[in-house]
Amino acid sequence: MPLPPLIGHDALRARLDEQVRRGSLASSLLFTGPAGIGKQRLALWLAQRLLCPDAASPCGACQHCQYIAAGAHPDLLWIFPTPRMKDGTDAALDDVQQEYAEAVAERIAGNGLYPRPDGSAGIFLYGARLLVQRATLTPSLAKRKVFVVGEADRMVPQAASPEAANAFLKLLEEPPADTTVILTSSEPGALLPTIRSRVIEVRTRPLSDAAMQEFLALPAAEALVKGKAVDDLVRLAHGAPGALLEADAKAAALARARTLLDTVSRRRDNLYRVAYAQGSTKARGAFTDMLDALTELLHEQARAAAAAGDEVSAGAGARAVMMVEETKRDAERNLVPQLATFRLMTQLAETLR
Ligand SMILES: [Zn+2]
Repeated sequence: MPLPPLIGHDALRARLDEQVRRGSLASSLLFTGPAGIGKQRLALWLAQRLLCPDAASPCGACQHCQYIAAGAHPDLLWIFPTPRMKDGTDAALDDVQQEYAEAVAERIAGNGLYPRPDGSAGIFLYGARLLVQRATLTPSLAKRKVFVVGEADRMVPQAASPEAANAFLKLLEEPPADTTVILTSSEPGALLPTIRSRVIEVRTRPLSDAAMQEFLALPAAEALVKGKAVDDLVRLAHGAPGALLEADAKAAALARARTLLDTVSRRRDNLYRVAYAQGSTKARGAFTDMLDALTELLHEQARAAAAAGDEVSAGAGARAVMMVEETKRDAERNLVPQLATFRLMTQLAETLR
């Protein structure tokens, strides 16, 4: 399953293409624009444009283009927020590279469509160390190297290691002549100012409705469409294919949160079975998404109770929200999700009786 083709962004693509042709493309770029509109996909397209030697670059057929579509070009390094590696601070860079290669493979296997990394994911110092080290190497297959750093605002500043942080800033300021660095961010205001001042900002726009239609017709988008009306999806997406993934993930999280609350309030003998099912979901972030949805539901209930003058229920709802928040902190500390859920459900059953 290769990366799906890039849809839309035509005017910007033409502009970037022209800059590559004239040799005037900046060597450190920052793609900004709303979340989910394909900034990282666009950055990968630009990488392909830079690495494909064909006159009709990117040709889509040469070895370079094929490696990029498979997420496996040796001169393209694509990093983005991922869960923190165990012992990442001291990890050998080969292991760090392997970790990112696996994360990329996962994105490609998902047809290049992926939800936003959850709140505990980040770009940690070892990611910056890898970029700095790779910048010193000569390209192995193409004439250049391209680094794509998705959601660069999620870089975690590390005061403990100023050398590595400074080396990364130096890389942005003055990349080697054969290296292009492309950062992306939907929240550029959250970028470290020291990073932002060293890159040229390129604004990207949401897809047009026509481009959204074209995107949804791709085989890669089949799972998103799933028999739904394309016009509805186009309206829902607001030009951001990623928004459809978010909507799916959000609906699923809400359904799981409802099941949990329902079990707590009615079928108390089921607690452990439901807790087990909730906690064992494979997708990273699914558990915290469910907890977020649970907070929303409990807030709603507490507001409704307060509006109806039922202060006892409103108070219980507020306490329940605090219990969920505490469970979120437990989740960050890597407590086994099943146990955390079971404990939460037991507490909620007590509180919401
Ligand atoms: Zn090519």
